[in-house]
Amino acid sequence: MPEVTMWQGIPRHEIPWYPTINADLCSGCRACVDECPGNVFDWDDTLGRPIVALPNNCVVYCVGCTKTCPSDAITFPKKEEVVALVKELRLKYNALPGNLIGLPGLPPR
Ligand code: SF4
Ligand code: SF4
Repeated sequence: MPEVTMWQGIPRHEIPWYPTINADLCSGCRACVDECPGNVFDWDDTLGRPIVALPNNCVVYCVGCTKTCPSDAITFPKKEEVVALVKELRLKYNALPGNLIGLPGLPPR
């Protein structure tokens, strides 16, 4: 069984934060591929366009690639909706900030 990647005590795949590419707008400049620290994108040689290959590698709440894209071809879900969902998931997984001391990616107290 594949290992579940966690984000702050929540299974990462339950957090719908990753880019969507509008192929009609994308010019194939590759800026998003170069920008991404998480290797989220793969490249489709046939179409000359990026593919969102590893969505769960996207850094939650990062929007770096949208700022880099010269064609406004990359969108994300509404942040406030994802923040609300994450609040619910924190309760579901008992992943409240006080229970997460010592987990990677969290600031020290
Ligand atoms: S938002 Fe950040 S981490 Fe996510 S795909 Fe774009 S550059 Fe990569
Ligand atoms: S930065 Fe925008 S236009 Fe360039 S390849 Fe990525 S999605 Fe396409």
